[in-house]
Parts: sequence; structure tokens; C-alpha cells
Amino acid sequence: MKKIQLNLEFTHATYDELDSQHQALIDAAREANTRSYAPYSHFNVGAAILLDNGEVITGANQENVAYPSGTCAERSACFYAHAQFPDVRFKAIAIAARGTDGNEVADPIAPCGACRQALLEYETLAQSPVEVILVGNKNILIIPSVKDLLPLAFAHFE
Ligand SMILES: [Zn+2]
Repeated sequence: MKKIQLNLEFTHATYDELDSQHQALIDAAREANTRSYAPYSHFNVGAAILLDNGEVITGANQENVAYPSGTCAERSACFYAHAQFPDVRFKAIAIAARGTDGNEVADPIAPCGACRQALLEYETLAQSPVEVILVGNKNILIIPSVKDLLPLAFAHFE
């Protein structure tokens, strides 16, 4: 028997420190959260996915009066992206949220467990890491891959 340790290495940055491609994806996620439908939580989340063909696909959380029928911004974006471009690899996803006061959250939010599982599917299809960019108005965190956010994930790909 032995103990095994997992390490998560990621980048902390400010918006101004990032290159124009990262800034553009963040801008798209911020813009997407203005199109969120969140009459129940009043928590507006946007996600923007950069595809290998240069397309940026956005999504926003879509709530429903039957709460479990709604979906998160990340899944709204990744399902739409894969439905439009089933043969194109995902390269990165940026996620930006505004709180109930209407202002962007200071510290970034991270995808929920279900979204991590959904995004991992597309990272597995891509056969290369999908960068996850978590956006707050003070701090931006860049996680190198979805797998980093979901260690020991469920998989059934045989
Ligand atoms: Zn989610």
C-alpha cells in the first residue's frame, strides 16, 4: 500500500498580462454572460470555446422553472460547438460570471462537476489538452487541461 499525491499546476494572471488570443476568448465569455437566462439564480455565466479552426462558440446558462431542466454555460457552449463542428477539436474554454449584483465576480468560478465531465469528453476526442480559463475581474486562472480539473474521472471509452 502507498499514498499517491496529485498536483495541480496552473497559471495566475491578470487580463493585461495575457496575449490577444486569450483576451479575445475572455471578452467573448464576458459578452456571453450578458445573454444568460437566469431568472432564478440571478447568477449569469458565459462560456466561450475556441475551436481548432479558429471559430469561437459561446454559451450562457439557461435556467428553467423545473430547475434540473436548465443547463450551465459550459455545457450550453460545448454541446452547441460539437453539434455545429463535430470534427473540430476544442482548444480552450473561457468562463466568466456576473453575480447577483450584476458585477463580474472578483474571483473566478470553476465549472461544476457535470460540466467537467462533459468537457472531458471533448478533450478526450481532441486527443490534446483543452485549456480552461477561469475569469474574475481581479484574478484569472489558466488550467492547462480539463483532466486537471477532474482527476480519476469516470471513463468508459473501450
Ligand atoms: Zn456546470
